[in-house]
Amino acid sequence: MTNKIHTFTGAVPPSRSGSCTLVGAGPGDPELLTLKALKAIQSATVLLIDDLVNPAIVAFATPTARIVHVGKRGGCKSTPQAFIEKLIIMAVREGEAVVRLKGGDPLIFGRGGEEMAHLQAAGVPVTVINGITAGLAAATVLGVPLTHREHAHGVVFVTGHAGDKAAGTDWQALAAIAHSAKLTLVIYMGVSKAQHIQDGLLTGLPGGTPVAVVQNASLAEQRHTLCTLAELQHTMAREQLGSPSVIVVGDVLRGLAATQQTTVDRPAASQSGC
Ligand code: SAH
Repeated sequence: MTNKIHTFTGAVPPSRSGSCTLVGAGPGDPELLTLKALKAIQSATVLLIDDLVNPAIVAFATPTARIVHVGKRGGCKSTPQAFIEKLIIMAVREGEAVVRLKGGDPLIFGRGGEEMAHLQAAGVPVTVINGITAGLAAATVLGVPLTHREHAHGVVFVTGHAGDKAAGTDWQALAAIAHSAKLTLVIYMGVSKAQHIQDGLLTGLPGGTPVAVVQNASLAEQRHTLCTLAELQHTMAREQLGSPSVIVVGDVLRGLAATQQTTVDRPAASQSGC
C-alpha cells in the first residue's frame, strides 16, 4: 500500500467505465462498516482516504489498489479540496473504480455534500454509501439514547467549528430552541471552541444541563467525560480531551449524570490532532 499522491491525467481512453463512490467509513471500529461499504472498498482500484479513517479499514482494499491519503484536519496541512476533486474526476475518466472514503457518514460535515455537488457538476455520477456518524457512536459509548419520549424530542447535529462570525453557529438561538423544544445537541468539531460554545449555550440553557464529551468513539483509545454545561471548558482542559471528540448536551444524559461522576476511560492521548 502506498501513501503518495498519484497523477491521473484523464487522457487515456478508458477501457472500462469508471465510477465514483462516496463511502462512509463509520466512527473508527472496522466492524461498524456496512457490508456495502466493505464491498466497495474491496473492489476499488483507487481509494482517496480522509485522515479520520482507521488504517484497519483501508487495509480491506486489494493490494493492487492505489491509495491516496488526502486528509485534512482543522489547522493542519491538507490536500486542497479542488485538487481532491480533480484527482477523482481524472481517475474516473481513466476508467478507475474510485472510492472516496470519509469518516462517519460521508454527508454529515466533512464537506461531503460540496464534494458530491462538484463531481456531479463535472459530469461524474456519485453513488453514496452511508456510514455510522460519530454522534451516534458517541451516544452508544455513553449508553444513552439521543432521543427520549420524556427528555428529548429530537436531536441536532451541529458544527462547533465556526468560521467567520457571519457563518458561525448561532449558539444563543440554538440554546433557546434546544431548551423550549427539548432537543439533544450533538456538537462536532467543537474542541477548540469549547469556551465559546459554553458561553453561547449558557444564554439559553441552565448551567446544570448535563454534558458529555466523547473522544475517539468506538476505537480502542476511546475516552469520555461527564460534566455540566457550566463546567465544560474547565473539564475538557483538566481531562485533556482533544480531537476527535463530540460534545453531547441535554437531558438524555441526566440518568447517567446521576449514577456516574466524571469518567475518563483511558489516559490522555496526544492532543495535537495533526
Ligand atoms: N462525517 C463525519 C464527521 C466529520 S467532521 C461523521 O459523520 O462522523 C469531523 C468531526 O467528527 C471531528 O472533529 C469530531 O467532532 C467527529 N468525530 C469523528 N470521528 C469521531 C470519533 N471516533 N469520536 C468522536 N468524534 C468523532
